[in-house]
Amino acid sequence: MISVDEARERILSMVSPLDVEERPLLTLLGHTLAEDVRATFNIPPHDNAAMDGYAVRDADIAGASSATPRTLRVIGEVAAGQAPAVAVASGVAVRIMTGAPLPEGTETVVPFELTREMLDTPTRGSGQVAVCGAPPPGANIRCAGEDVQVGETILRAGTELRPAEIGVLASLGLAKARVVRRPRVAILSTGDELLPPGEPLAPGKIYDANTYALATLVQRYGGVPVVLGIAHDQIDDLRAKVRLGLDADLLMTSAGVSKGNYDMVKDVLAAEGEIAFWQVAMKPGRPLAFGRIGAVPHIGLPGNPVASMIAFEQFARPALLKMQGKSRLRKPEVPAVFHGEASNRDGRRCFLRVRVELRDGEYQATLAGAQGSGILSSMALANGLAVIPEHIRHVTPGDRLSVQMVDWPEE
Ligand code: AMP
Ligand code: MG
Repeated sequence: MISVDEARERILSMVSPLDVEERPLLTLLGHTLAEDVRATFNIPPHDNAAMDGYAVRDADIAGASSATPRTLRVIGEVAAGQAPAVAVASGVAVRIMTGAPLPEGTETVVPFELTREMLDTPTRGSGQVAVCGAPPPGANIRCAGEDVQVGETILRAGTELRPAEIGVLASLGLAKARVVRRPRVAILSTGDELLPPGEPLAPGKIYDANTYALATLVQRYGGVPVVLGIAHDQIDDLRAKVRLGLDADLLMTSAGVSKGNYDMVKDVLAAEGEIAFWQVAMKPGRPLAFGRIGAVPHIGLPGNPVASMIAFEQFARPALLKMQGKSRLRKPEVPAVFHGEASNRDGRRCFLRVRVELRDGEYQATLAGAQGSGILSSMALANGLAVIPEHIRHVTPGDRLSVQMVDWPEE
């Protein structure tokens, strides 16, 4: 038997980040940036108005108040998107809208609230304005480069792109970015008992749950699932279906790797590549196969649906993230008060499906239902995996356990 940590390290050591590709902005969410991004201009590009009002020179409004207004001649108007055509000498003001570049010679924007307009209607931008207050010099102006300075490295290689980073790329005028490619993951279920959902149930058969839970886990963690379907417990079919997955970046099979198993699945996998069959000290999810078929890494998950999902979570998820160039591979763990009872007699790391809630300032974990490794409905009720460490034999109500928060992002 090998430990969970050793199995994870061995798997991680055999996968590497994939190659880099250029993608348009709207397809970048969740990708890892492959190179530093530098600003080639200032943002904002020019000093501009932070409020609607009048752009003025400070000397012209010194001491202005409602009792002692200063009257200035209005010589024009600039809206956002326009370049100001006027330069300002003393005694004049320019009507200005938020985001519009400041006309040359102006120093401060006086908001409309502090002015009385005496304009020659209907033409705006001529006539007079009474300024009834003096904001501090430079008020209501956004300075060129206050957001981003030309030459600055604004995003670093290795950054995971969230909406904010994608907005920053757009503000730099970039329509694309170079990112690590998403892994294509071929998914194959094995077993004569399996039927695809949508077909009528037949005696002795069950529906293939693993394909769908695993394919959507792959999607959730940034991979592109390629569903190969169901292989029968029959050498030729299994071999043919495995080969269909050999242009993927990772081949993921489920079932056929446990001890008392119909050995043929193991034999075929072993004959097609270099595969090791491990007993991992965990519960559920003990049997695991890992290796390569051709050039493609292969992970053989257990057949029981819960075991396959938990083994995916511990081993395949970090591998997929590493292939995408990510450095945060661990799920957050929170300490929680456990409200249940469970035994762990044979020194394995035990993962309990629990429902975690924050109550009275502490996380409280309740068993999400029966814990058999085939009972998928309790997985659906769980939002965490409470971990009983290898050396603990029994847990009772009130014990504190660390809980992996499977729906939270990695840290
Ligand atoms: P095996 O490893 O082939 O012995 O499978 C272990 C258990 O998992 C058996 O009860 C299988 O019926 C079940 N199982 C295997 N594959 C799937 C699947 N794709 N969907 C649901 N149950 C499965
Ligand atoms: Mg089977």
